[in-house]
This record gives sequence, C-alpha cells and structure tokens, in this order.
Amino acid sequence: MNSSNIIDVQLQKGREKQMDEMLQQIKENEAKAKQLQAAVRKLPHTPANCPVCRNTVVFPTNLLTHLLHKHVGAPFSMHAEIYEQQPLVVCFDPLCNVHGNNHCLASLLYGGVRDRPETRPGLSYLSRLNSALIRDNQRYNNYLPIMLLACRSTWYAQLGDKHLERELSRINGHKAGLNVIWLVAPKTTRKLYFQLTIYDRYHLNIRSVKGTVRNYTSSQNPSDFMPHEHNYLLLCDEELDELLQPSYSSASKEPRQGVTIELILFENPAASLRHFNGNELQTALQSAQAEMLGYSLSFSKLHD
Ligand SMILES: [Zn+2]
Repeated sequence: MNSSNIIDVQLQKGREKQMDEMLQQIKENEAKAKQLQAAVRKLPHTPANCPVCRNTVVFPTNLLTHLLHKHVGAPFSMHAEIYEQQPLVVCFDPLCNVHGNNHCLASLLYGGVRDRPETRPGLSYLSRLNSALIRDNQRYNNYLPIMLLACRSTWYAQLGDKHLERELSRINGHKAGLNVIWLVAPKTTRKLYFQLTIYDRYHLNIRSVKGTVRNYTSSQNPSDFMPHEHNYLLLCDEELDELLQPSYSSASKEPRQGVTIELILFENPAASLRHFNGNELQTALQSAQAEMLGYSLSFSKLHD
C-alpha cells in the first residue's frame, strides 16, 4: 500500500468515527427526550382547590384559565410574564393581608428563557400544556402559571405541636404577627427555584431567601407546611415597621407603597443571580405600583 492509500484509509476511518459519535449523540438525545416525555405524562391530573378561592376546584392544566378569570385584575394584585433569571418587582401591601386568608400578590406566567421559545416549560418538558385557553391567550399554552401568595400568620405557626400553637396564639398571637410569602404552581417534572429579596424604603437590599415553587395541590395553609420546609419568606411586624414609609396606614390619603419585593425564578440551582440595579428597581417599582393600583393597560393583554 502506498502512502496516498494509507492517508485515504485513515481519512475514511476518521469519518466513520465521527459518524459513529454523531449517531451515538442522536440516540442519547432521543432517549433523554423519551425520558422527559414520560416524566411529563406521569405528572398528576388530580385537581385541588385554588389556594385563594378555596371552594373552587381547579385542574392543574386549567390553573392558568382560572387565574385569568378570577385573579388577574383583582385589587392589590399584579400579573406579569416572568423569565429565567429575569428579576420582577412586586409590591406587598400588608394591609391586604388578613389573618389566615391567602392573598394572591401576583399571577405569573413563567416562559423559560426570554426570547428562546424552545425553553418554554411546555416544550422543555418541565410541565404539561395549559388547556382551555382561547383566542390571544393561546400563546401562553406552553407557559407555567405561578401564584405568588401571602398570608398573615403568627410565629407559633412554625411549631409542629398544633395544640401548643393554638394556645400560644390565643394568649400572645397579637404580639407575634408574621407575614408568609411563597410561590405555587402545578407540579413540575423538575424543581423550579425562586429567590425573593426584600428592599427597604431607600432600596437597599435587606435580605434574600431562596426556595422551590410549591405544588398548589398540597396544603397551602402556612401552619401546615411551615414546620416541615423552608420554601417561603417571612416578614414579622417589627420588620414591617422599619420597611414601610412613616405615612403608611389605611387612613392615609397618600397611595400606599407597601414593601418592595424582587422575585427571580431559575431552573439551575447553581445559577448566579443578578439583582436589579438602583435605576432598574425604581422603574420596575413604578410599573408594579401602577399595575397593582389598576392603572396598567397591560391587563387587557390577558383578559379574554
Ligand atoms: Zn382562585
């Protein structure tokens, strides 16, 4: 065999190796896609009560339709699209928080990575597709509906002993006020993480909490889930006094600004997250306040 033939054989072997590797990669991708599809098929269909309107039973694939009909446009609640690692500002008005009642601070549409439609939760096998959406809202078929919830409770709700919780709340509950803030969505095939950050009136970052979005079909009574997990942000009454403007009260004629909270969602727990800078936070806050006070035109985007 001459040297030219040897080179031809080597080239041929190189091409064959490349083809084998490509084929192997395709097979691995197909097997992974099948696994992910199977995981989506295994997601439960079981309905549960809406965590806010507790007497309304909602199927997981209908949660978005329920939000659009019952929660978008509700007083002191906002709605927005939200994307992977993109901060969103929400105003929390503690005066809307009634002891023991869940309040929906925000109805959210999670769409994966912004401008990358293939990462929408319905296409990346994170969640099932939404059903029963009509007209323009069908563009949200592949989004994941999420509710940002708040509830007024007491420090004693963290106790595993519920008899003791009731006794202490009866004796001292008025001095142990606590606001709990957390997120719920239909069950997903992989964990979806959140970071909630509180800002004070000067927009200095006070503290951040990370956790996972809860399955809305589980109990959404803080007294049930607080003793066993940490997927929530707590704000006690003493903190609120420091965070709120001095004029803050239900009797004030000034618009109530509440507490500024930044929310970031992310799928990779190792992601390094970037907060809003001062100007971005101010702009986002004005927009959130307009939305929660009902000035925003964007409501029409989601209504049928
Ligand atoms: Zn509801």
